[in-house]
Amino acid sequence: MIIREMNKSECAAVIAQARVARLAVSREDQPYLVPVHFAYAAPFFYSFTMPGQKIEWMRQNPKVCMLIEQYSAGREWRSVVAYGRFEELPDRIGWKRERDHAWSMLGKQASWWEPGGLKPVPGPSANAAEHLFYRIEVESMTGRQSVDAD
Ligand SMILES: Cc1cc2nc3c(=O)[nH]c(=O)nc-3n(C[C@H](O)[C@H](O)[C@H](O)COP(=O)(O)OP(=O)(O)OC[C@H]3O[C@@H](n4cnc5c(N)ncnc54)[C@H](O)[C@@H]3O)c2cc1C
Repeated sequence: MIIREMNKSECAAVIAQARVARLAVSREDQPYLVPVHFAYAAPFFYSFTMPGQKIEWMRQNPKVCMLIEQYSAGREWRSVVAYGRFEELPDRIGWKRERDHAWSMLGKQASWWEPGGLKPVPGPSANAAEHLFYRIEVESMTGRQSVDAD
């Protein structure tokens, strides 16, 4: 088994085949990591959420990190770490085009809205909560890959 660095187009290939990333956010020296669905159109990851801890933390500290992993049948894996900056796509004049773009990109995936649109405690407050779109602008990216040398 050897580990090699992946180039930009190899990283892009891993991202193109993935639907779920681990999104790492932080506030006051406390990291917080959750899985999220995403759609990617370089240089942006687009995603969707309801109000909650991760969006609050990203509003306070827009510097985030995403991890996208891919495993093959054997021992081989590929992973991409993307460093970027959170930006909300508010439901306001001036943002319609970007929101529509996020919606159409995410809408290509079946049931993309389910995990982000549900909370553990159902009820009027959860159902009535606004749906938020955001994007992560990728500022840098690294990729590593294991290759079975046997
Ligand atoms: C495959 C997959 C895809 C997902 N896709 C999306 C998506 O596209 N958009 C989206 O918004 N969410 C998605 N989720 C759910 C997401 O991982 C979070 O659980 C959810 O967004 C709530 O995050 P929050 O910060 O708003 O939590 P809040 O509702 O504000 O709750 C915060 C509290 O709940 C705990 N908590 C939150 N989420 C989790 C969790 N997953 N596991 C354990 N503890 C948790 C935190 O530690 C904290 O104590 C996905 C989950 C999975 C498994």
